[in-house]
Amino acid sequence: MTIHSALSQPRTPSSGLSHVRGVDDQPLSKACLHELLAQAVQRWPERDAAIFCAEGIRWSWAQFQSQVNAAAAALHALGVRCGDRVGIWSPNRSEWLVTQFATARLGAILVNINPAYRVAELAYALNKASVSVLVSASRFKTSDYLGMLVQLGFGAADTQLPALRRVIRLGEGGNADMLDWATLMAQGHTSLPDAQSLHAHQPINIQFTSGTTGAPKGATLTHHNIVNNAIAVAACMRLSAQDRLCIPVPLYHCFGMVLSVLACTSVGAAMVFPGEGFDPVDTLAAVQSERCTALHGVPTMFIAELDHPEFSKFDLHTLRTGIMAGAPCPIEVMRRVQSLMHMREVTIAYGMTETSPVSFQSATDDPLDKRVTTVGRVLPHLEVRIVDAQGQTVPIGETGELCTRGYSVMQGYWDEPERTADTIQDGWMHTGDLATMDAEGYCNIVGRLKDMVIRGGENIYPREIEEFLFRHPKIAAVQVFGVPDERYGEQLCAWVVQRPGAECTEQELRVFCEQNIAHFKVPRYIRMVEELPVTVTGKPQKFLMREAMVAELGLSRPASA
Ligand code: AMP
Repeated sequence: MTIHSALSQPRTPSSGLSHVRGVDDQPLSKACLHELLAQAVQRWPERDAAIFCAEGIRWSWAQFQSQVNAAAAALHALGVRCGDRVGIWSPNRSEWLVTQFATARLGAILVNINPAYRVAELAYALNKASVSVLVSASRFKTSDYLGMLVQLGFGAADTQLPALRRVIRLGEGGNADMLDWATLMAQGHTSLPDAQSLHAHQPINIQFTSGTTGAPKGATLTHHNIVNNAIAVAACMRLSAQDRLCIPVPLYHCFGMVLSVLACTSVGAAMVFPGEGFDPVDTLAAVQSERCTALHGVPTMFIAELDHPEFSKFDLHTLRTGIMAGAPCPIEVMRRVQSLMHMREVTIAYGMTETSPVSFQSATDDPLDKRVTTVGRVLPHLEVRIVDAQGQTVPIGETGELCTRGYSVMQGYWDEPERTADTIQDGWMHTGDLATMDAEGYCNIVGRLKDMVIRGGENIYPREIEEFLFRHPKIAAVQVFGVPDERYGEQLCAWVVQRPGAECTEQELRVFCEQNIAHFKVPRYIRMVEELPVTVTGKPQKFLMREAMVAELGLSRPASA
């Protein structure tokens, strides 16, 4: 197994076109997850592997592997076999981490269930992937998980979850048909099947993408997909066994399970989990008490940390690097993270679940302006093109849809051959993201294809106006989107959250815009709001904002759904 110790320079586009290939001077890893873990155990048996602050758990790599093997043997005794789908529905708890590796050790396919799901989405995901065993937390925030499973008839004759045989619960509640995790682990099963039949191209993970329209789709990923992406991502951060990464991002998403967990496992860095769900103070406290050197987060998490009234009380001097990703990373926030949080070598990553997830990432030694204004350069072994509506590669500097090809592209959407064929053509994953590339191969994400606003024939990229508004000192968060308009087709609308204690008016922001940007980019509507609707992974839900405005303004049809 080869671990990339350093990242060579990616190639720059040579033909004047927005088309790049990552370096390939080091071979791809052929490791399965259990081999990645075995390597960590062999090299760093006594070093910290995982710390769960809220649970009071601290495992070395050797202790963690014992947990994984015990869970794998217990699941095997329950009848879980290679290719079976095992669901996990839980916030960030130690059992999540153990289940991730235990299922992979058996060749079973872990199905990540979003902690925010309610009954309809849960039933859809479990039935779509024919999940036979589900590891489930008892509850999280306002969700009574076990109650919802009972509501769907688990254990009853007329169940709405026909494939589900077993629920392993993490805590009290539910019904008598549910097994308790602690009891399962205490049974002392030790017999593990031979790992010889496992190979890296077998699928081991299904992640349902959030999908703002239509039913969620289950991106199906192999060991090869995610192990190699994790190795490349760790190299971009220069992550090593000396590092301690604070992980407030959810494990059910690839940001948690690949960019955090597998990246740490590939280099022996410690994983520090502040709590079950994101909390800015818990995160800052975990960085301080565990002397973390790296921190991950979506932009809204970093904003919540920086803007928290207690921010200055925490000693964050140990921080060096980390990743901001998952949604557009405002330049201003990047600058504050570098200076106020001491993350001099923070990187930005761009990707999507379907590409395991990262395609672009800045490196710790990229020039400062590239590290705050772009998503970096293409990762090793990947190829990226930016194409126009006809599928032609656009010249350097022009906007088009970003397409990725290479080892990272998922096997497909589970049980959805047509939707898979719509998105992957000739091996190219069509991301639906609009991007530009410069002559050195640095990429900029301009927005989502579907979010682009066309106002009176003028293409407007909301990201540009968001970046502009962000420069206003009273603004904590902002989202810009299109709403329908009889005269112009669409008009711009901005939802703004102000900084704590700031007194900001719509009129003030309008004047700020009018004095600085072209008239057609000045939002027609500006609304001051308490908070923005975002997904668990911090993705702004523009469709909800748009729907709310359509209702408020009495408009007839939603703009570009
Ligand atoms: P997901 O599959 O949930 O990881 O979502 C992937 C989507 O998140 C991408 O298609 C992008 O729209 C968005 N995204 C991820 N990272 C970035 C980034 N660094 N900048 C802008 N958008 C991003």
